[in-house]
Amino acid sequence: MSTIEANPEVEDVPVPRNNDHEVTTARTAQVGDLAVRRLLPLRIRRSVGAWCFIDHYGPADADGQAGLHVPPHPHIGLQTVTWLLRGNVLHRDSLGSEQLIRPGQLNLMTSGRGIAHAEESVVPTTADRDPVLHGVQLWVALPEASRHVAPRFEHHAILPETMLPEMTTPGMFAGRFDVTVFVGTLADVSSPATAFSPIVGAELAAAPGQPATGRLPLRPGFEHVIFVASGRAEADGVRLGPGQLLYLPTGLEAAQVAAPGGTTLFLLGGVPLGEQLLMWWNFVARTPEEIAAATASWAAGEFGSVGGYQGEPLHAPALDVARLLRPR
Ligand code: MN
Repeated sequence: MSTIEANPEVEDVPVPRNNDHEVTTARTAQVGDLAVRRLLPLRIRRSVGAWCFIDHYGPADADGQAGLHVPPHPHIGLQTVTWLLRGNVLHRDSLGSEQLIRPGQLNLMTSGRGIAHAEESVVPTTADRDPVLHGVQLWVALPEASRHVAPRFEHHAILPETMLPEMTTPGMFAGRFDVTVFVGTLADVSSPATAFSPIVGAELAAAPGQPATGRLPLRPGFEHVIFVASGRAEADGVRLGPGQLLYLPTGLEAAQVAAPGGTTLFLLGGVPLGEQLLMWWNFVARTPEEIAAATASWAAGEFGSVGGYQGEPLHAPALDVARLLRPR
C-alpha cells in the first residue's frame, strides 16, 4: 500500500490518559478510493518498537471497480506487512514477485535499499471468493544496521508445511483467543517471517459467539499497541473499538484482554527503536538528502519496473524540503 500524502502524520488528537495507557484516535486517510483508518504515525509518537505505520481498512466493498488499487510505487528503509481479515490482495513487485494473499497469510516485503510494488484487491473466481476487503497494512522501520539490505519478498501461508504458529496454550485464556503471531515473537511462539529487530505482531481472534478473556503475556522490554479491527474489546480496563489505538509503555509483563465473540484485535510491539525516523511519502530514511535522492531515483526509473501491472506508476508529490526539515 502507498500513502498518497507527502507527510502521513496523524493530526493532533485528544489523548485521554488512564494510568499511562494512552488512547489515540485514527484519522481517515484516502488510499486511492479506499478510506483507511490511519492509527500511526502520530505526532506524539512516530513509532512503537519498529512499527512506524498502521493502516486499518474495511470491511469495504471490493467487488467490481471498488477496493484497493495502488499503482507501482517505491519504498526504502522499511518492511511492508500485509495481513487480511477478509478478501484478497494481489502483490507484484520489481523483483518479479506475484502473490495473491488471502486471510491468514502474510505478505512481507523488505524494501531494504529500494523496491517498487503494486497492490490491488481482486475477486477470484474460485469458490473462496469474497467481495469484501478488510485488512491492515503495516510498516516496520528497518534499523540503521539493516536498512540498506537487498530487497526481498516473502509469503507465509497457513498450510501444514508452513503453518504460522497459533498459540492455544491451555490456561492462558479462559475462553479462547486464537492467536496468530505473524511477525516476531509472542511468549514462546515465533513467526517464520524475517525480522530485523526484537518485535511482535499478532492477531487475536475470539470465535463468533464465544467471548474470550485472558492474560496476554508481554515482554517488559517492549512497548506495545493494541487495536480492534472488528468488534470491541477491553484491554487493561480501557474500552476499545475500531479506530482507537491503545499504547502500553515498556515495563509491563502482561495485559488483561477481554472481548465478545467475533472480535479481532491486534497486538504490535517491540523494543523502542531509539532512532529518529524521517518519513516522507513511501520512504523511511534518516536525512532529507536520502529522501531527495530516493525521490530522484524513482523519477529516473531506477527502482525497476513492476512486471505484469497495466497502467502508470505513482508519481511522488513535490518535495518540500523546508517542511521536511521543520523540527517535529
Ligand atoms: Mn506500498
